[in-house]
Amino acid sequence: MAEEPEGNNRLLQDVLVRPGNGTCADCGNPEPEWASLTLGVFVCQACSLLHRSIPHISRVKSVQETWDASEVEQVVFFLSPFQLVASTGNNAAKAKYEQKVPAFYYRPIHSDCKMLREQWIRAKYERNEFEFIEKQEPYSAGYREGFLWKRGRDNGQFLSRKFILSEREGALKYFNKQDARDPKATMKIETLNATFQPAKIGNPCGLQITYLRDNSTRNIFVYHSDAKEMVDWFNAIRAASWCLN
Ligand SMILES: [Zn+2]
Repeated sequence: MAEEPEGNNRLLQDVLVRPGNGTCADCGNPEPEWASLTLGVFVCQACSLLHRSIPHISRVKSVQETWDASEVEQVVFFLSPFQLVASTGNNAAKAKYEQKVPAFYYRPIHSDCKMLREQWIRAKYERNEFEFIEKQEPYSAGYREGFLWKRGRDNGQFLSRKFILSEREGALKYFNKQDARDPKATMKIETLNATFQPAKIGNPCGLQITYLRDNSTRNIFVYHSDAKEMVDWFNAIRAASWCLN
């Protein structure tokens, strides 16, 4: 290991140009300038801020800063004094943390809202959802029910409504009263599209659901106060649509 700080940073630069490390491990943005010492991944500045929200999992440092030998050792492994091998890095981390990402699961990109990118990072590194498929049950079981805050059509007020997503019925339904037998609306999965619209809805977890009814396009606006719950709903809807294809 090089003793000089400049030598350490040079080694880091060598690792940065290796395959996989040229784009952010979490959102794909080019030329990441931050590294997670504990996870061995290179990420963009925006994602590095999200890594800071899980300090028990990830410790980030800019590659522009001066690194000491022990820090470099965490992202670099030496096979011999002449051969440098990156034991970690983005490709190695992907093989571990993203090994079982379902095909329907939405992988956020750089321009996506912060909440969606943060939940992707937490799902990968904190909850290890893509290493253990049993952790994917909330969105891969084909059935989901629970309460969401839904914006009222007339006064714009959000009210708690029960939602049921059933892959078997090919529908997402919601009910105005908890014990109601008939749903207020039945949205056919094949006509349904869901996108996060935090600014439009005025909530970081705001989801817009568009669907067709009587040949006209309708929208509902919902959110859940728990970001993981909302992203689970989003991916459960994607899973249900996916099986129609
Ligand atoms: Zn990123």
